[in-house]
Amino acid sequence: MTHRFRWFLVLAVCGLGSPFAEAADPAVARGFDVLHYGVRLDPDLDAKTLRGRETIRLALTRAGQRELAFDAGALDIDSVQYEGRELAFSKEGKQLKLALPEGSPAGKTLEISLAYRGAPTYGLEFHPEEKQIYTIFSTSQWMVAIDAPDERASFALSVALPASFDAIGHGKAKVERIDAKQRLFQWQQKVPVPSFVYGFAAGEFAAADTRAHGVALRMLARDPPPESLRRVFADTGDMLAFFGERAGVRYEGRYDQALVVKTVGQELAGFSLLSEAYGQEVLEDAKNEGLIAHEAAHQWWGIGTTCRDWGHFWLNEGFATFMAAAYLEHRFGKDEYLKSVARWRERTARLVAEGKNHALVYQQWKPSGDDRAVVYQRGAYVLHLLRERLGEEKFWKGIRDYTREHRGRSVETADFQRAMQRSSGQDLDGFFRQQVYGSGGLD
Ligand SMILES: [Zn+2]
Repeated sequence: MTHRFRWFLVLAVCGLGSPFAEAADPAVARGFDVLHYGVRLDPDLDAKTLRGRETIRLALTRAGQRELAFDAGALDIDSVQYEGRELAFSKEGKQLKLALPEGSPAGKTLEISLAYRGAPTYGLEFHPEEKQIYTIFSTSQWMVAIDAPDERASFALSVALPASFDAIGHGKAKVERIDAKQRLFQWQQKVPVPSFVYGFAAGEFAAADTRAHGVALRMLARDPPPESLRRVFADTGDMLAFFGERAGVRYEGRYDQALVVKTVGQELAGFSLLSEAYGQEVLEDAKNEGLIAHEAAHQWWGIGTTCRDWGHFWLNEGFATFMAAAYLEHRFGKDEYLKSVARWRERTARLVAEGKNHALVYQQWKPSGDDRAVVYQRGAYVLHLLRERLGEEKFWKGIRDYTREHRGRSVETADFQRAMQRSSGQDLDGFFRQQVYGSGGLD
């Protein structure tokens, strides 16, 4: 994933006292833990606006919590209800603050209902000419949510779409006719995941369906005939099988992919979006499929296991970048992997030469290409160095142990270091201090 919008979130994340410190439980600090979101969205493609209705089920983590704060982007909140009564609320910048009527004990479960409107300028892409609408991170621009990656909740999404549209989302859609002009697509994300990987993509798409390595795969795009779509995504099933083997955790459920008008590539829970132009590049040369692999790898590293705050973002992006190269090695041979390593090394050398290099664990993000290169390219390069240091067997055993142990959790770099040390029997403190918490080196 690459997206300028996340940087705004990153700036809001507090710093770590020391690289090895365990941060306080963010759900306790927040005062509540979201268990489930349910959203019904009615977008107007031509007007580029939306209306939404939402229920949020949450558990209080602190006794007497009176204020609940959510991310709500530029949404206009019409009403908030709790136990059938209107609840007082205020919007301060991008935050929605709700005032609970009385103090409640920790552990109490509440359900809040909201109605809202919006005209998002990002987070939800409206393309009326191309007849497409799709989400692009920044979830709180189209629903009220906690944007932070430590907050995992299940999610039910319904979207009213023009009758001529097909769509993908979380799992198999249930589709109902609303009237002659509209249909309602409904998805259920039952496994709790962070809200930044919630979304859908819809449009006047052609579809191709297939099955590989036991996984149902659906592909959508505007122009290419189904045969071309199958060629673009020919290796997706093999990628999921490869990553499942490397992770020690098999892929579960279906996996869908769409080529949309414009995106740098994004992972979502159970599907991914890539651009039409990129699809063309893969058609021209299958060795360009690294980005398809990168987004697929995120199902394990980024979604299955997520960085606890954006300061540990390399655990999502360094991993997906590295794993895409590992897939290219599996598919096309060692030379393809080594080409990726050479590019990471070259980019790292440029960061060093320009004084732009810094630790991989890094709270003070700037929306520049250099910070991104540290996390993506140098992050992947550091995983390559660790692979070289530990050797094939110990490195991949460590990756499997780490991924299995932390499946369904949001983690910090210290969790990864501990898993690799335990699995390899080696003290990696010096390596992590230099390469991960420090600015690394090119040895
Ligand atoms: Zn990514």
